[in-house]
Amino acid sequence: MRIRVLGCSGGIGGANLRTTSLLVDNDILIDAGTGVGDLSIAELSRIDHVFVTHSHLDHIACLPLMVDTVGELRDKPLTVWTTGPTLEVLRRHIFNWSIWPDFTEIPSAEKPFLRFRELRVGDEIELGDRAIRVLPAQHTVPAVGYAVRSAGGTLAFSGDTTVCDEFWSAVNALPDLRYLIIETAFPDRDRQLAVMSRHLCPDMLASELQKLEHPAEIYITHLKPSQMIMTMREIAETLGALQPRMLRNNHVFDF
Ligand SMILES: [Zn+2]
Ligand SMILES: [Zn+2]
Repeated sequence: MRIRVLGCSGGIGGANLRTTSLLVDNDILIDAGTGVGDLSIAELSRIDHVFVTHSHLDHIACLPLMVDTVGELRDKPLTVWTTGPTLEVLRRHIFNWSIWPDFTEIPSAEKPFLRFRELRVGDEIELGDRAIRVLPAQHTVPAVGYAVRSAGGTLAFSGDTTVCDEFWSAVNALPDLRYLIIETAFPDRDRQLAVMSRHLCPDMLASELQKLEHPAEIYITHLKPSQMIMTMREIAETLGALQPRMLRNNHVFDF
């Protein structure tokens, strides 16, 4: 299995900053932020499944546009997987005929370009030799993380979350954890903002990572562009021993 980072920033700008999206092999996306816009039409048309962590725009921005772009080119619907509350938001606020057409009825309800499938925390969806498990998370809107597993190991992705004991119980129960991608949106001086917006800052990340029971390579995602350097410096100072790395666009995990 190959996971390629299409976007991992808390914002946009310049050549490298794209919002959250991970491409699993050629056919699965975890979130559909602005990084999806770098894929060619041929690459977009090969995507069969999108697993959405939550409804915030930085995680779904390209979803409506990609459905419209590839619909005619595909012979089966694009399947969007997420929890009931997030599906409800997507239906009501995005695919509502005002912001964007409801592609679950286009070109017909019998053979649509888009279909929704509901997930619950703890569900595991098997797609070929890959398995995607839904992890709990805590954010300002209903949110989940995902663990992606192949024969070579497991990668856990927090999505957007603040302090969440349930996330760590689920991560500690994963078989063969190799990689952990976890958010740290703000530097410590903006701790109040991190608390309010239900994200993490380095100090909170440090206490969260004490709950991790297995060794894993740790990658930091969702850094605010203007505070990237400061936040990573604080993480290096507080968490030196764990050596978390900054996740970068186009990073590839092969396992
Ligand atoms: Zn969010
Ligand atoms: Zn976000």
